[in-house]
Amino acid sequence: MQIIETIAELKSIIKDFKNTGKSIGFVPTMGYLHEGHLSLIQKAKEQNDIVVISIFVNPTQFGKGEDFESYPKNLEKDALLAKEAGADILFHPSVLEMYPTGYKTFVDVESITNALCGKSRPGHFKGVTTVVTKLFNIVTPNRAYFGQKDAQQVAVIEQMVRDLNMDVEIIPCPIIREKDGLAMSSRNVYLSAEERKAALILSRSLFEAKEFIDRGEKNAEVIKTHILNVIRQEPLAQIDYVEIVNAAALENVTTLEGDILIALAVRFGKARLIDNIRLEVL
Ligand code: AMP
Repeated sequence: MQIIETIAELKSIIKDFKNTGKSIGFVPTMGYLHEGHLSLIQKAKEQNDIVVISIFVNPTQFGKGEDFESYPKNLEKDALLAKEAGADILFHPSVLEMYPTGYKTFVDVESITNALCGKSRPGHFKGVTTVVTKLFNIVTPNRAYFGQKDAQQVAVIEQMVRDLNMDVEIIPCPIIREKDGLAMSSRNVYLSAEERKAALILSRSLFEAKEFIDRGEKNAEVIKTHILNVIRQEPLAQIDYVEIVNAAALENVTTLEGDILIALAVRFGKARLIDNIRLEVL
């Protein structure tokens, strides 16, 4: 596996691969890799000749007071894990390489970026769509892999790719969880032992909601209230939001029908955790 730090070098390598007819799978990440990231690399390896993973903690998607400075890093370990999972190229640019002095251009998807995480993290998705557009232009992937863990991110990227006629297929991949149900996240490292235990309430509340729905409950308010009540039993949990929306437009629903996303964001100490389930309700 090659580790590349400059855009020029990566573009030149990609050009050579493309000239020999190789397909490119791309996995954008912020590093501190866990099995969630590795599942995306493995899927990319199954479907493409060459797999590129990027590790870039993107400053434009962090708001003031968020964890840009303290975001966990371990490039050496990440490189080993990425290689083992099947990556051929690890792209690790500096902030100046991606945003040189005088940088002025941003990509902004409207409307669906105002819901859910967009409400509590204004500007976050503008940073995401900008960096993903830049990375797509650099890597020119045939397919790009994103985790359903960040369900709103998938919806926003799919909208952007449609709207801007980008020549890339977006492949959403399932949420990978710890054995006890906690959705894997680089930010789980922020949790104290007590908070780690308390954070289990998130997946538990979502799984309980799914059981309700499987038994025929379709009233969004009833399900949302149940989830809120379950999470409120945990004193360390500070709820940011719990929302039930349709999965494509991310608009609130009153009755569960079709492709539904139940998404939540909850703080435990300095960790803001997100989780969700997506279901097809008949
Ligand atoms: P991040 O490094 O957190 O920006 O995540 C990079 C990619 O990995 C995104 O597409 C995430 O949705 C995906 N990802 C993160 N955690 C998980 C997980 N637990 N299961 C599946 N995909 C994940």
